[in-house]
Amino acid sequence: MKKIGFIGLGNMGAPMAANLAKAGYEVTGFDVSGVAVEGCAAAPSIAAAAEGAEAIITMLPNGKVVEAVAAEIIAAAKEGALLIDCSTIDVASAQALHQRAEAAGLRPLDAPVSGGVGGAAAGTLTFMIGGDVAAFDSAKALFEVMGARAVHCGAAAAGQMAKICNNMILGVSMIGVCEAFVLADKLGLDRQAMYDVASTSSGSCWSLNTYCPAPGVGPESPADRDYKPGFAAELMLKDLKLSQEAAAAADAATPMGAAAQKLYERFVEHRGLGHDFSAMILELAEANRENALDQLKT
Ligand code: NAD
Repeated sequence: MKKIGFIGLGNMGAPMAANLAKAGYEVTGFDVSGVAVEGCAAAPSIAAAAEGAEAIITMLPNGKVVEAVAAEIIAAAKEGALLIDCSTIDVASAQALHQRAEAAGLRPLDAPVSGGVGGAAAGTLTFMIGGDVAAFDSAKALFEVMGARAVHCGAAAAGQMAKICNNMILGVSMIGVCEAFVLADKLGLDRQAMYDVASTSSGSCWSLNTYCPAPGVGPESPADRDYKPGFAAELMLKDLKLSQEAAAAADAATPMGAAAQKLYERFVEHRGLGHDFSAMILELAEANRENALDQLKT
């Protein structure tokens, strides 16, 4: 496989496309913003990027955009081409996309990622993949260039399912860790002592041990850089909303996920965009100081 079409050259897509070009693939990219990526040819349209490509990769904001872009790709791509959607989108849209692409003779995969902009630039993303195993095998070499790990999770949309389950754990666990620091502060317990105990006890988790929301405690994290993301709260909110949509459709009760969504809604309304999701510790501390605790009740 040599020729790749890449649609959506934003914060994530641009470095992913650049890594493929660096590895020797002929990448033709398209983005509505007209952005150019080093090593990649710029196509004038989605169709031009898709034509003749053996694989077309999309990295777009949401399910609606993916649906519209995929319609143009499906009309232009050659039979048997891989259609790899790396965006984080809702499960229902991902399932519909698989059906439409398969009916048109393409080989679709949903392949959302974890690892953020840093992982995209370093080529260390984790891919979670749903779709046909043979299509997954054909795409493996591409995942190896763009990432460090590619997990086949099951049939159509299983990658999106794994992604939203993982990020629901992350949102809930980050809030739990932030609450523990706020409680420690109120009790007069030293933050470092709380960290030393919990990070090596049953409270240990990625949100505490690797991405500690308290500045000056634990390894360096966005908390030490004034909560510059990192992983922005609005992206966490997007993923929590997707998890709750999926929970409603599957008739699953996820009360902690629902509470996490409400708290991140309040965070984004109150603090605005562009703050790391670990700044939840500031939201909780502020509400405690201002006796605005009823606002946090979900
Ligand atoms: P982004 O907004 O930086 O990039 C999206 C790009 O798509 C933009 O450049 C935009 O111009 C382009 N676009 C929009 N509509 C288009 C269209 N019709 N045709 C062509 N291009 C179009 O977003 P991002 O941070 O790169 O995220 C992309 C996806 O990856 C999202 O689904 C996001 O949830 C997911 N994701 C992001 C991160 C992260 O840390 N940024 C981490 C994991 C997953």
